[in-house]
Amino acid sequence: MKTKEKELTQLNEKIKKCKKCELWKMRNNVVPGEGSSNTKVMIIGQAPGVQEDKTGRPFVGPAGKFLNYLLELAGLNRKEIFITSPLKCLPQPPVNRKPKKNEIEACLPWLKKQIEIINPEILILLGEVAFSVFFPDKKLKDFRGKWIEEKNRKFFVTYHPAAGIRFPKIKKILEEDFKKLKTLIF
Ligand code: SF4
Repeated sequence: MKTKEKELTQLNEKIKKCKKCELWKMRNNVVPGEGSSNTKVMIIGQAPGVQEDKTGRPFVGPAGKFLNYLLELAGLNRKEIFITSPLKCLPQPPVNRKPKKNEIEACLPWLKKQIEIINPEILILLGEVAFSVFFPDKKLKDFRGKWIEEKNRKFFVTYHPAAGIRFPKIKKILEEDFKKLKTLIF
């Protein structure tokens, strides 16, 4: 096993045992994230949903199916990138609510460690929660569809795929953003 892979696997085992916030009491599975440890692209969503909590895998529900389609538009293979979120357990009650600030704060060191190990060149931030974790003083609407370069990394900002399922206008914007990504990454 390669070193990065080993480090990431060991970290994921620790995440799976985490009890740093109250969400551990209600979860079925922790969702640390999955994909390649040697990727230059990392995708960051919001939090596990019901399907993710059931399976322990990120983006496997309806938003995940839509994300797969968007990744195809960008020419990205799901197995060759790493997909995760700032929160690793399903936010509840009510099920699927927006993560609370204290939950994000408790969970964030796990994401930071994953980034440190993988050391991706590009981070694709999906939606407000992912964006505010990295840029708390900026507004997503000012940066959507654009790159932000900071600390030797490039951040690409767009909406969360779940919003694209609900609103046709956002679906169209997401399709355009991911097509644009293809021209920018390759
Ligand atoms: S959400 Fe994060 S901090 Fe809270 S229990 Fe799950 S892994 Fe731990």
